[in-house]
Amino acid sequence: IELNKDWLQGYVDDWVKFYSKHTKEGELASYIPLLTQSNKEHLGISITGVDGFTIESGNVDIPFTIQSISKVFTFIVACMERGVSYVLDRVDVEPTGAAFNSIMHLEVKQLKKPFNPFVNAGAITVTSLLNGKTSDEKLEPIFQLMETILGYRPRLNQEVFESEKETSIRNRAIGYYLVEIGSLESELDLTLETYFKQCSIEVCIKDLARLGTILANDGKDTDSDQEIIPKQVARLAKALMLTCGMYDASGKFAAYVGIPAKSGVSGGIIAVAPPRTRNENLPFLEGCGIGVYGPALDKQGNSIAGIKLLRHIAKQWDLSIF
Ligand code: GLN
Repeated sequence: IELNKDWLQGYVDDWVKFYSKHTKEGELASYIPLLTQSNKEHLGISITGVDGFTIESGNVDIPFTIQSISKVFTFIVACMERGVSYVLDRVDVEPTGAAFNSIMHLEVKQLKKPFNPFVNAGAITVTSLLNGKTSDEKLEPIFQLMETILGYRPRLNQEVFESEKETSIRNRAIGYYLVEIGSLESELDLTLETYFKQCSIEVCIKDLARLGTILANDGKDTDSDQEIIPKQVARLAKALMLTCGMYDASGKFAAYVGIPAKSGVSGGIIAVAPPRTRNENLPFLEGCGIGVYGPALDKQGNSIAGIKLLRHIAKQWDLSIF
């Protein structure tokens, strides 16, 4: 049956309006000083189906830095450059149940490798595996991958990069520990510079939705069907998003929303709903990518209104993979 776009749009507009009031309950991230300049009341969502169907609502045109969502794409590119087994020999695929920048969890791990590529320790390790002698060389394939998917080259937000670099005590501490256990393949300063730059790539929710669509489509371009990301790598990334993507709220997100997702401290979330076969009265049956932005965060560092909105939409449209 033909889904009525105006009808769906009306629902999404109502939901965004309703959940916008929850932005007041959250706080902006302040440990990267420049992030405090965001507008706490913003909330927006963009959904792009594998079939091209798109719905957007709320504050849709706000650019923000990708932050931890970049960890998904660094991991993907590292797997494409070095091979999956090489990367997984150096970083595990287990959730921590701890904060994204936890130091404690590094030491208790017997295996001497970080838990997963989406906590800072694992992400910094993966960044060190990227080919290239400078941070720009290391990041070039990530920019290229994004350009292939988005149709334009995203910019680097220099101010956020510098703001984070100046206030990077915790990430440096993690970095030194990684040097000590022999995790890093490139020198610490270069690795951290690359990591801060990857976190400072500027996107908007439409971009996140589009990137998510490619993951929903198992790494293939939705128009040409050409492989952009190998299927095995796309699946691994989605499994990690489901188990480790929402920091120490990943279990709850899997239970109550039930789709792979990754958040960042600037308030962005990328979510991926794979294709479904049941109930053809629902939208996005062929799968979709979802981008959310709401910079007011909960205690775990996830967009407070963004999560509530996703939970509602996933329930209404039966998106859970379970
Ligand atoms: N750049 C941030 C950091 O490393 C990213 C963290 C995040 O988005 N959770 O602290």
